[in-house]
Amino acid sequence: MQNIPSAQDLHDQILHHLTHSQGRGPEFATPFDWRMAISYAVRDLMAGTWVDAFRAARDQGAKRVCYLSMEFLIGRMLGDAIINLRLEQPMDQALQMLGLDKQQILDNEPDAALGNGGLGRLAACFMESLSSLSCPAFGYGIRYEHGLFRQRFEGGQQVETPEDWLNQPHPWEFVKVDYSYTIGFKGHVETVDGKAVWRPGESVIARAYDTPVIGWGGNWANTLRLWGAHPTTLLDLHRFNAGDHTAAAEPEALARTLSRVLYPDDTTDAGKELRLKQEYFLTSASLQDILRRFLQEHGDLRLLPEKVAMQLNDTHPAIAGPELIRLLMDDHGLPFEEARDLARGTLNYTNHTLMPEALERWSTWLMGGVLPRHMQIIQMIDEDHRRATGRPPHVGIVQHDQVQMGELAFIMASKVNGVSALHTDLVKDTVFADLHRLHPDRIVNQTNGVTPRRWLRMSNPGLAQLLDDSIGEGWTTDLEQLRRLEPHADDAAFREKLGEVKRANKVWLADGLLADLGVKADPDAIFDIQVKRIHEYKRQLLNILEAIALWQRIHDDPNGDWTPRVKIFGGKAAPGYWLAKSVVHLINDVAATINNDPVTRRFLQIAYPPNYNVSMAEDLIPAADLSEQISTAGKEASGTGNMKFTMNGALTIGTLDGANVEIRDLVGPENFFLFGLTAGRAATEAATPGHARRAIEASQDLKNALHLISEGRFGRAESYYALLDRTWNDDPFLVASDFDDYFATQRRIDAAYRDSATWDRMAALNIARSGFFSSDRTIRGYMNDIWQVRPVAI
Ligand SMILES: *Cc1c(COP(=O)(O)O)cnc(C)c1O
Repeated sequence: MQNIPSAQDLHDQILHHLTHSQGRGPEFATPFDWRMAISYAVRDLMAGTWVDAFRAARDQGAKRVCYLSMEFLIGRMLGDAIINLRLEQPMDQALQMLGLDKQQILDNEPDAALGNGGLGRLAACFMESLSSLSCPAFGYGIRYEHGLFRQRFEGGQQVETPEDWLNQPHPWEFVKVDYSYTIGFKGHVETVDGKAVWRPGESVIARAYDTPVIGWGGNWANTLRLWGAHPTTLLDLHRFNAGDHTAAAEPEALARTLSRVLYPDDTTDAGKELRLKQEYFLTSASLQDILRRFLQEHGDLRLLPEKVAMQLNDTHPAIAGPELIRLLMDDHGLPFEEARDLARGTLNYTNHTLMPEALERWSTWLMGGVLPRHMQIIQMIDEDHRRATGRPPHVGIVQHDQVQMGELAFIMASKVNGVSALHTDLVKDTVFADLHRLHPDRIVNQTNGVTPRRWLRMSNPGLAQLLDDSIGEGWTTDLEQLRRLEPHADDAAFREKLGEVKRANKVWLADGLLADLGVKADPDAIFDIQVKRIHEYKRQLLNILEAIALWQRIHDDPNGDWTPRVKIFGGKAAPGYWLAKSVVHLINDVAATINNDPVTRRFLQIAYPPNYNVSMAEDLIPAADLSEQISTAGKEASGTGNMKFTMNGALTIGTLDGANVEIRDLVGPENFFLFGLTAGRAATEAATPGHARRAIEASQDLKNALHLISEGRFGRAESYYALLDRTWNDDPFLVASDFDDYFATQRRIDAAYRDSATWDRMAALNIARSGFFSSDRTIRGYMNDIWQVRPVAI
């Protein structure tokens, strides 16, 4: 544990940076100036550890992890750094001395939203755990100028505006201008002296922007290295002097588009040349950087698999296989076989989805046009694999003139992992069944996790304090210690304290919902929360249809003894995903109607705060009584939102999907509200003709709810024709088939919530048994089963 500075030291350092880094006197400083000064003062406290950690790993010749990901959904950094450096108390005092409002300062920081959802947030949790475990690692990503779009609602419909977090200086990063690499595209391949030489037609420079990621206690820090694209030639001075000012800047404009925007859709194959170029940009820059450092440290390329473990977060960086072979063959003169073995010895691939539309495929002409040398190498890998395995003809990387990135990643990996037990089984049985038969030891499971520093200690300080008081602080780095809470679940005094913490969080959230949305949320109601990307398989539609049906039931019996409920939604729809956008519209329309109904408003309120992001998740999750994890079984690879809620004492209503299965096993089936078809039965049902219509006809509640939408009860019916048509006639995600079970389970929850002793006991047991879902456990699993990397001490 490093030395913790005093409040006076912090106070002085903040004032120092206000003058010397911000150029402002205290009497003129804005919240932004203060936030910058504070961030620099905090950054000073991690830079030393960061440099020392890098030196220690180098001096010890340690094996390193390189985590390649197109997305890092980091959120805000200041609060997290304060927590991990253990500065809460002196910082609170220092801010008090300066007369500053901590919440205002923290809220001044924009979210680093360099990701879409779960996949990007997983990468961010992994970076934090890697540092907290002193595991030497680099995270590699892209420094998008514009992260995930901002969401607003107009007339209930989603409107996207660009996100612009880099419009202001970013205090956490260090630019490393000397780490710059040329990335080529297009052109052609020549043969010179019998060897292939790629002559790219375009090129850009990738420049390193480093952010230290500090671990718990400030004992270790790794680097998140994000690549920014820069032109190889800055300005065509010739054309500029000739007066053609716009054309003169063209190379610059072209280059910058590469790191300009994050693709706002992580669940369909974008099929865009720019996307392929971005993926190659990330991968090539990272591999060139990794090889440069490796050669400096070790020299002998044959040691590569002993010294570097690379993890590909989904197939987005799967071009790493051919790129590494290319660098080893074309730049370092190794024969194909040796290059292939070295590449396969270092690469590993995480699969995140089974949905066919989300598996990346590129046409061979696009791949051959953008990356002609790589297309050759892909064909060599494919042919080599065919010869080595004698595989059947329908198996392989190139099929029907398409390069299948999943197959490429699999074939070039030492280990392939799924992200929950159920998902890994399905990976073996479905997408990679043929390859699994050929390589039965390659697929392993690593169930996802989340970091308890951010998702408990930072976001839920009330609960963190109660945990510290009850079982000590050890849970922060050893989340299994939460087990020691189990006996407290039967202690009425403890349950009361737990209830008070939850209620305080709900009051705080209710104040915010009233101020921001005008929604009156009763803190004694069930806070029922579904926050995640809007997607058909995640079934927000099921949730809002249940709200409509409940609303009707209350109308039928307005003097009934209903359990008040506040339904809270949060999430963005991909801009081109029309059905998801009409679900957003429907939720807002239904909320507008129901919230103002004088008969029901005491019992049912709906809130949909716009622009769900990491910071909003940190506000919402600690205030949840009920976590909605209701995806169609077999569709959600793991989920991590489900884990955050469980740790924060929310009970889950969920299907047997992804990590829900493991959550239920661990917390106990009696402490989890299960409903819905299993993955196997769901697949059969979805394949049965007429399943949707039959299920709707059998459910009076559902049929009524759908009729109300068709009648225009919640805004113009035309807005919902496509959605209604899909539900009646297709319903591939089985909203109708699971509706009655879902509705009935919600009514059981209404009843259970009324017995607060029992409810709080269940909540306590959910917390106590959530230790498995720490990303520390996940990272240890990767370190032992996949990477063979050991922690390093400074
Ligand atoms: C955790 C998290 C997710 C993932 O949520 P799921 O429910 O697992 O899909 C998405 N977005 C944000 C901002 C998160 O914090």
